[in-house]
Order: sequence, then C-alpha cells, then structure tokens
Amino acid sequence: MGDYINVKEIFGCDVFNDSVMQDRLPKKVYRELKKTIEEGKELSMEIADVVAHEMKEWAIEKGATHYCHWFQPLTGVTAEKHDAFVTAPREDGKVLLSFSGKELIKGEPDASSFPSGGLRATFEARGYTTWDCTSPAFVRHDAAGGILCIPTAFCSYTGEALDQKTPLLRSMEAVNTQALRLLRLFGNTTSKKVTPSVGAEQEYFLVDKEKWLQRKDLIYTGRTLFGAMPPKGQEMDDHYFGTIRQRISAYMKEVNEECWKLGVTAKTQHNEVAPAQHELAPIYAPVNIAADHNQIMMRILKKVASRHGMRCLLHEKPFAGVNGSGKHNNWSLTTDDGINLLEPGKTPHENIQFLLILTCILKAVDEHADLLRESAADVGNDERLGGNEAPPAVISVFLGEQLQDVLEQLISTGTATHSKTGEILDTGVKTLPDFMKDATDRNRTSPFAFTGNKFEFRMVGSRDSISECNVVLNTISAEVFRDACDRLEAADDFDTAVHDLIKEYAIQHQRIVFNGNGYAPEWEAEAKRRGLPILPSMVDAIPALITDKAVKLFESFNVFTRAELESRAEIQYEGYAKAINIEAKTMVDVATKQIIPAVIRYTTVLAESINSVKAVSAALDVSVQTSLLEKSSALLAETKTAMDKLSGLIAESESHEEGRDRAVFFRESVVPAMQALRKPVDELEMIVDKDMWPMPSYGDLIFEV
Ligand code: ADP
Ligand code: MG
Repeated sequence: MGDYINVKEIFGCDVFNDSVMQDRLPKKVYRELKKTIEEGKELSMEIADVVAHEMKEWAIEKGATHYCHWFQPLTGVTAEKHDAFVTAPREDGKVLLSFSGKELIKGEPDASSFPSGGLRATFEARGYTTWDCTSPAFVRHDAAGGILCIPTAFCSYTGEALDQKTPLLRSMEAVNTQALRLLRLFGNTTSKKVTPSVGAEQEYFLVDKEKWLQRKDLIYTGRTLFGAMPPKGQEMDDHYFGTIRQRISAYMKEVNEECWKLGVTAKTQHNEVAPAQHELAPIYAPVNIAADHNQIMMRILKKVASRHGMRCLLHEKPFAGVNGSGKHNNWSLTTDDGINLLEPGKTPHENIQFLLILTCILKAVDEHADLLRESAADVGNDERLGGNEAPPAVISVFLGEQLQDVLEQLISTGTATHSKTGEILDTGVKTLPDFMKDATDRNRTSPFAFTGNKFEFRMVGSRDSISECNVVLNTISAEVFRDACDRLEAADDFDTAVHDLIKEYAIQHQRIVFNGNGYAPEWEAEAKRRGLPILPSMVDAIPALITDKAVKLFESFNVFTRAELESRAEIQYEGYAKAINIEAKTMVDVATKQIIPAVIRYTTVLAESINSVKAVSAALDVSVQTSLLEKSSALLAETKTAMDKLSGLIAESESHEEGRDRAVFFRESVVPAMQALRKPVDELEMIVDKDMWPMPSYGDLIFEV
C-alpha cells in the first residue's frame, strides 16, 4: 500500500456514526436513538443499554480496551478518565467485558479537581458528565491503546455548568427556538430546526523538537519570553501560501489521515503569514460538533508533530514581533432542510428576511460587543490582539461594499431599491476564463466580517475553545430575534412592521459597522468617538461577563445563571494570574540560570582578550573588545536590576487577594516588569557570541524547521 491513502475508506472509520448505528442497532433502538439525537427526546435506560452494548462491541473490534467520558472543563483543555471494559473475574478466573447504558449516559468525575470559580464552595464537590449523543463517540488510538471516547457535558451536582459544552448546547436551543419563530413569521412552515454552523480555521506553528527542548520558555509557557528578531522576518511575504516543504507535507498528510479517521473533515491546508506557521480548516459542521472536532484536531496536530520530531505550538503569540495565531470562527445559521439564513442571494435588497436577520445581528453585536470581545479573551491572546496582523481589540462589523450600500439606502430613504453586483473579472489574458467577481472584496483587518453567507469572527485565540464565542453569538442573536418576533407578532401589518424594524435597527446600530482598515491607528480614536468598548486586555474584558446586561441576557435564555457567570469570571481572573505568574517565574529562572551565566562567560572572554592582547603590546588596539565589554556589562547590570524587580513583584503578588485583585496586579505591575527584563536580554542576544548564547534564536526556531 505504501503511502496511498484511501480517503473514502478511512473517513470516519473510527467513529460510531449514523451508518454504524444503522448497521448494528436493532431498528427500534436506532429509531429511538435518532429521536433523541434529532428531537431531544429522553432516552430510556433500556435503549441506552442496547446502544452501550453495541458501542462496546464495535469499539472492541476497533481495538479499544477502555472507554472514557471525554469533556471540556474550564481548564482550557479536554479531560478524560479511562475505565477498562473488564468486570471482576468469574470463579473460573476469566473476565467479561461490559459497558452498560448507565456507564454510557453518566459519569462521575471528582468535580473538585476542576476549576469551578467558587461554585464548588457553595455547592457540592460532586460532578457529573452526561452523554451528548448529538456528537458521535469515537475510538482514539494512542500509546494508551484504543479508547472509546464519549463526548459529554460536565455539570455540578446541582446542575451548574462546569464546562464549555453545557452552555453551548443551551445556547443552540435558545437560537433555534427564536430563529424558528422568525422563520414561521415569514411563512416558512417546513423547517424543523435551526442550527448554528461553524467552520473553525486553525493556525499553528511547527518547530523542531530538539530546539524546542532547549527553550524552557516554550516548554513551560508555550511561548518565547526572550528572543531578538532575526535579520529576516515575514516582510518578504514569501511564506504565505508558499510551497509546503517535504517535512511539513509529510506531517500534514498524517494529520489529515488521523483527522479523517475520526470523522474530522480536514479540508484546507496552507502555509500562513509567518515562517513556520500553517493553517488547517475543516468543513463547517453543527457548532457542538465543530467545537469537539476542533479539540480533536488540536490534539492530533500536537501528537503527530512529536512523531515527526517537531512540536506544534498552539500559543497565540509564540514569537514577539512575528505574526500570531488565531482561530477564525465562521458562523452561520442553517435549517435542517438546508436553508442558510445568512445567504443574501443575488439581490440582497429584495431579500427582506435576510435584511432583518442581518440588522438583527448588527443590533446584537452592537449591544453586546463587550461580551463578544470577552469571549476571545485569553492570556495568550493579549499578546496578539491589537498587534499589526491580528484583529484589533475593538469589535466592529465589516459588511463589504454591496451590503454597506444596501444599508445606506435603508438608512437614508427607508427602502433599498438596488444591489451592487460583481463585475466580470478581466485578467487581460485570453486563455484564462473570465468569471464573475464577488460583489465584495475581503477585509482582513475586521474582527467580525461578513464573508458572503456567513460571519467570520477572527478574534478567537488559536489555543482557545471555540465554544465561548459561539455561546455569545448564539445567545445574543436569540435575544434580538426574540425582540423582533415579539414586535412583529404584535403588529397589524406585517410588511410595514418588518420594514420599520429593519430601518430602526439599521439606524440605531450603524455605529458598529466599520469597513475601513482596522489596523490604522485612527480607528481606535474613531471607535472611541462612536462609543464602542475598547478592552485591550483580558483583565479589562472579564467584567463584561457579569454586567447586569449580560446576566439578564443569559438568564433569560437559561444559558448561564448569575452564579455560573460569576464563577466563570473568577476562573478567568485566576487563570490569568496563574499564567502570568508562571511566565514571570520562568523568565527569572532562565535569566538566572542561563542568561546571566552566559553573559558573564562572554564578558570574561572579552576581558581576557583585552588582557592577553595588551600583554603582547600595550600599543595594540583593543577598542572593539572594550566597547563590547562596556556595553554587555551595562546590559548585564540592567538585566540583574530588572530581574530583581520582577522577583520582588512575584513575591508581592501573593499579598493580593486571589481573583480580580491579583489579576490586575499581574497585568499592571508584573507584565511591565517582564517587558523591562526582556529588553536588555534581547539586546544582549544581538551582541553575545552566538556559540555562547544558551538557547536557539528566533532565526533557528522559525527558519530551520
Ligand atoms: P474563506 O476562504 O472565505 O475563509 P472558506 O470557504 O475557506 O472561506 O471557509 C473557511 C471556513 O468557513 C471553512 O471551515 C468552511 O467550511 C467554513 N464555511 C463555509 N461556509 C460556511 C457557512 N455557511 N457557515 C459556516 N461556516 C462556513
Ligand atoms: Mg477565512
């Protein structure tokens, strides 16, 4: 067989998907399970027992020895506890393999080992994982053997969400209910369900494992804390979409293969802007599946990298001054019978339903811009957002020329009479086919851009779960749809009411639309003038979770209770403080044990050289050595002073109360002190003999993978 991949054969081969269920489950059981999956009907234990048994038989054939409830606690990574299928030995010493409906449906991990942000203190330590049967189970093969992974939600004993998935499922229900209401008002009687569909484009870096091992900062924090820029960066734009090198191609091939086996539709791969940076995007799927698949994909990216002697960096900003990594969250609303509610058609000005949905989303994003910003808040993302190649930390919506024009017509006259169309693209070359251009060009600088028939939210960090932003998108849309439906249902004349509503929303929320260059420094001033929230850091963004406005929004759709929101804010503050604390301590460690000793060696060599040369003849010129010695000694002293200051602040941090207080201290005092330490070290790296520098440089890391 060699290298040949039979995609059709391997796709989904390790997934307990619909076709496996049809093949293996008795007809009645299959029908009942489908009802649960599609209509949310409760599953009886009798049915669950049969499903569990067949799932186990199938998993064992695939080589599984264990099962696990696979869930996404608020640690930022997935969690699982493996249980073997074995039962206690019989009298003859043999074991049976079993897996019951109860074991499939419910698990009991110890909730006290996971972040709960205070919920734990008020409630019990007990927590439950519950099977999310709308996301298929799969068998994962790794060093631990085959594990049957069952996607689950994770809640406390009293039902508080302790994970990413529970609120996501709740928000899907909220938007489904309200969007269906809206569709019915427009005369749609056939669609049964509206589902948010998401395709998440994943960016990542690859570095050589041997070099990675020499960088304690990468090992402990996922990013470099020191590092001078190489003479060549990404300014030549020669990496983006460039030819993919052999080592990377071999890696991508295996990543795809592993993704496909687990039913993840790995589709588009290319080199990204920075050297050593790449991207992988799947085909969009219902958002809870997309979120699970993104977690699976991140794990595969890492696992396969180590097999290829590399490390995959998912950090948002592994290298200062080099393009960071994000996760573009493409979001739309689709019905079970294939209608995309965000499809404008060729003549959007005539598509009243689309215009209402569009203006509803403008209203939603404008009213909850702070929440959307917060949903992308992540320690690593603080290094990325607002940089010159990532979306700014201010939320705005890009509509593009065609929709902007329709919106302007609506605002100025109340009705839109025409839509700009794309023109024929003329390349000037006869042998190239002509085709219609899109009516709208792209804008890479917008955090929330309309891209034809979906919105692309570009703020999400590369490591982060996509659940948070989709919980927000789904719920804020549900809220505006509800508002619109309430008003339309009460109206005497539907057509006039819709027309008025579109106009009202467009006028009231036009400030959120920005089609210009989001990187331009003027934009921040303009955003401020428009009254849009500017929240540069995670610590600034977290309070958005617990405003009265946010609590009202989430409570009214049962997505979060106030207690859940408060606990999440608490977890975020703690997470921020802990992460910066680790970074700061790592800097001190590396500076003390590696950098300062290396610079001392270097200055000693310089001093010895001066002495030796002078010993030969006092007349010889040692000005180069002397000036280097002076400069490096001064920087060494600056390093030591900055390091002592940072150590002092780390010690002081514990006197600040855990939670917001401590996070603010880290943000306002520790982060600047880290920058102050980095500065002289990066300058030293530029002058110290490369052979003496204790770790691989940026150049070594990103140009020599
Ligand atoms: P672009 O080049 O505009 O970013 P792509 O077609 O490459 O668009 O798609 C990027 C991601 O968006 C992919 O994951 C794709 O599956 C997803 N996507 C495409 N259409 C939709 C849609 N209607 N809803 C949600 N995601 C979509
Ligand atoms: Mg894109």
